[in-house]
Amino acid sequence: MVSEFETIIGLEVHTELLTETKMYCSCKNTFGKKENTVICPLCTGYPGTLPAVNKRAVELAVRAGLALNCKINRRFKMSRKNYFYPDLPKGYQISQFDAPVGENGFLEIKGKKYPISDIHLEEDAGKLYENGIDFNRCGIPLIELVTKPCFNSAAEAVDFLKELRLIMIYSGVSDCRIERGSMRCDVNVSVHRRGEPYGERCELKNVSGFSNVYEGILYEEKRQKKLIEEGKCVFRETRRWDSQKKESVILRSKEKTADYRYFDEPDFSEITLSDDFIREVFSLLPMLPNKKRLYYASLGISTQVAEDIVIDPEKDRIFNECVDLNLCDAKTLSGLINGIVAEFLNAEPDYLKENNTDEFCLALCKIARLREKGVISSTAAKLLFENHIAGGGDIDILLKELKLEQISDSDYIEELVKRVLDENPKSVEDYRKGKTNVLAFLVGWCMKLSEGKSDPVLCREAVLNRINDDSSQRGERN
Ligand code: ADP
Ligand code: MG
Ligand code: ZN
Repeated sequence: MVSEFETIIGLEVHTELLTETKMYCSCKNTFGKKENTVICPLCTGYPGTLPAVNKRAVELAVRAGLALNCKINRRFKMSRKNYFYPDLPKGYQISQFDAPVGENGFLEIKGKKYPISDIHLEEDAGKLYENGIDFNRCGIPLIELVTKPCFNSAAEAVDFLKELRLIMIYSGVSDCRIERGSMRCDVNVSVHRRGEPYGERCELKNVSGFSNVYEGILYEEKRQKKLIEEGKCVFRETRRWDSQKKESVILRSKEKTADYRYFDEPDFSEITLSDDFIREVFSLLPMLPNKKRLYYASLGISTQVAEDIVIDPEKDRIFNECVDLNLCDAKTLSGLINGIVAEFLNAEPDYLKENNTDEFCLALCKIARLREKGVISSTAAKLLFENHIAGGGDIDILLKELKLEQISDSDYIEELVKRVLDENPKSVEDYRKGKTNVLAFLVGWCMKLSEGKSDPVLCREAVLNRINDDSSQRGERN
């Protein structure tokens, strides 16, 4: 049944930029340092200090705009957004107002384009903590991306955020560490009766984490529908999502643009971004997720397998480095990377930061090649991988040392299968009665007896041959 109500959602997403230093001073852009140790007179708003624009931040903001199909403003200017809050020692935030870096972009997900109104450059504020205020985050460069009210469900909004996160990471704009708050968003939600104009919206402020966004939207939908059904008003409010209690609570009635008393930032003048600069930024843009999906399809990789790689930038990096080595088939590689490599990196997430990726990729390619040629079983592939991780060493040498070469000698396989069938008369009987799924069990037994070294395809054939032969012989006797 179609619901009587329709939901409209718009997102404002804040993303910290991956710069070395802060937006206007030379303090490092860091996370997790002791409170108030990464500050200077400028980022703590002492009178008389003068800001200098971080060029890298401008470049990354332009890069984000280009990655999201925005029109880039040649006119680069900043504006003051005035408000009082203890985490903002200057009493204003240097932001952009009438000339954002990028405008009228879109993000395409599975063929649907979600419109982006603008992307503008800002600076982060400090953080309140139990003993006071930590100013370390003050002045860290941020971009804010504002979407049109274009999502109709929590799922759509979350899919957008996930894809946006990937784009930011792949384009090198941000590391989007959600647990560190380097990507967080304001979620605007309204509800209206179908066919009627959009309803009044509430804004859930500073929500971080996909599940919080999802749950917050569901909660607001329910709360607002109830108000409308009871004939009450939804007021334009700024609310906070309480992820523990799973409810939204009012913070304040929504401030209007005029409340911020925006004016042009007087401490530095407007500059013009040259076409050359924008072109150069564009040329440095790496391959983005949608293009990757097409590229992986062209390598013969299925949509789902490709997606499993694309959503994990670390796996994606390894995959591409391996493909570039051109030693084996991309399909075999994707299987290994989504299998043993993914499992390993889950357990050892820092391994590639501490070890040589080139060696790692070369080893993977060699393992993939051995698999392709049928020289090793999947069990042996895993053993080779584990041994390489444990002690390094060339895969071809390890293969000999560990005697992992797959046995495809027909006499050996015949002998092995005979033994397996003799040891499992009940399974053979079951197979004859039509329980064909015991075949996998019998082949598995062959692999076990041969310590993973026999060729499973040949074992399967031999098992079938032997069972069928025996049946026909029995048939003759009866
Ligand atoms: P403001 O100037 O009040 O901040 P904006 O037009 O900039 O308003 O919109 C802020 C955010 O609110 C945007 O993400 C936009 O998509 C969203 N939004 C606007 N109207 C609605 C609505 N009726 N329902 C839900 N979200 C909305
Ligand atoms: Mg706004
Ligand atoms: Zn500083």
